[in-house]
Amino acid sequence: MKIKFMGAARTVTGSCFIVEAGARRFAVDCGMHQGNREIEKRNWDTSGYDAAGLEFILITHAHIDHAGLLPLIVRDGFRGPIYATPPTLELMRILLLDSAYIQEMEAQWKTRKCLRHGEAKVEALYTQRDAEETTRQFRGVDYDQTVSLGAGVTVAFRDAGHILGAAILELDVTEDGKTSRLVFSGDLGRPAQLIVNDPTVIETADYLFMESTYGNRDHKGEDESLDELAEAIAFSYRQGEKTIIPSFAVERTQELLYCFHLLDRDGRLPKDMPVYVDSPLAVQATEIFRKYTKYFDEESKALLKKGRDPLCFPQLRFTRSTEESMRINTSEGPAVVISASGMAHAGRIRHHLRHNLWRPGAAVVFVGFQAQGTTGRRIVDGAKSVRIFNEDVAVKARLFTINGFSAHAGQSQLLEWLGGFRNPNLRVFLVHGEHSVQEALAEKIAARFGYRVEIPDYLEQVTLTPGGEIEREMHPVPAKPTIDWEFLLGGMEQRLGQLRERQARLEGKGWVEQTDMRERLLELDQRLASLISEL
Ligand SMILES: [Zn+2]
Ligand SMILES: [Zn+2]
Repeated sequence: MKIKFMGAARTVTGSCFIVEAGARRFAVDCGMHQGNREIEKRNWDTSGYDAAGLEFILITHAHIDHAGLLPLIVRDGFRGPIYATPPTLELMRILLLDSAYIQEMEAQWKTRKCLRHGEAKVEALYTQRDAEETTRQFRGVDYDQTVSLGAGVTVAFRDAGHILGAAILELDVTEDGKTSRLVFSGDLGRPAQLIVNDPTVIETADYLFMESTYGNRDHKGEDESLDELAEAIAFSYRQGEKTIIPSFAVERTQELLYCFHLLDRDGRLPKDMPVYVDSPLAVQATEIFRKYTKYFDEESKALLKKGRDPLCFPQLRFTRSTEESMRINTSEGPAVVISASGMAHAGRIRHHLRHNLWRPGAAVVFVGFQAQGTTGRRIVDGAKSVRIFNEDVAVKARLFTINGFSAHAGQSQLLEWLGGFRNPNLRVFLVHGEHSVQEALAEKIAARFGYRVEIPDYLEQVTLTPGGEIEREMHPVPAKPTIDWEFLLGGMEQRLGQLRERQARLEGKGWVEQTDMRERLLELDQRLASLISEL
């Protein structure tokens, strides 16, 4: 049996593992590569997935880094079923449509820019139509049902406690009469997270593919989140100003609603302070949560039984239209605004920040990870002002960063979950983490459990022995060249063109450039020639 790591290998995003067993070939997850430009280029060359040659795809949960490439793979010719839990399928539908819309908008914007420079039109990575097409291949599988996928492959989805419907996959693959159990953790939730259950403890596996996002650290201050939220609200309420919360539309927003429900119950949310959820995607996601309360944890179910909706409280308002959204900022008085995107680099949240960030009485609350380069990160890092809609907006509002909301297990929680396995010969592959983080976790695992841990690289392929015996070969594929020649040469050609133009202009004016550029260019030319001969 072979496993090929198409993403989430020594990095967090792009989860996709292609399994080949005999004549069977299928994928676990199909995520988008996100982060820097170099990583995002992977989205544009999907030939390695051989989409038409995949029989089916299993999706662990509805996050873009696990499902975001599906429309592209379908467009490339994948015609098989896409299996996931029912709430995952519904959440995935709205997320993929939203992602497609963003792709189309981005392509439109880039096209306008390219046409101005006399360059060709830019195509969207995929369109809303592609996303709609993809949903026709969706097939629902509930938790804890063992489903046969034909000829020696069965799967069971177990609750991963990460977001609504998220699953750990238990795969039994029979090859040459021997069965191996492969467990894919997907993203593992944090025990005691609101709304969802704790991650299911798994005891049996031969091979484990485990996420490692927070493999080197624990979350701080988990219990204080509610108090911090109450403090932010009280602060802006006293000043008659607003509390602005950039939040991810799925899970984080619903968790926040739950927190507001609890604050209201305890009399800590002023009665005359409306709480707006201002993100069409978050509104849709909340509806899906309401539909699937049977996937909630016991605490939430107990509340529902008593007739109390944990995602509701009297001050809650949902806004859909742009007009409604704009009205929030023209109306005076204290309010809470929860809006997307979670890192404040896109979406309606930017309007709310433009209206409030410069107000000393307002509060801005960060409840999620802020990636490098985003507006959110710049604010958290202490920028005096940030650029929003081509305008410098001063950062004068009081900032709160609440760390207790992570939907991922921290290091000790990952180790605790790993402690559930009973096979002393378990082989562990760490995925979905930064390399240095994975190395730290691998060391801990080896020390505590004695398991052999592998940290596969991007596009690496490993061969697993049926039955989970100790023998195992690694077949590292030679790493892709790290120099992007296309990009480099393109840039040089462009620069040369500019230089020629400049030279022509200067000559036209009868000027001669007085530089030692000629010498340097000749030297560069020689160095390039020797480099080329080495290739
Ligand atoms: Zn996730
Ligand atoms: Zn993930």
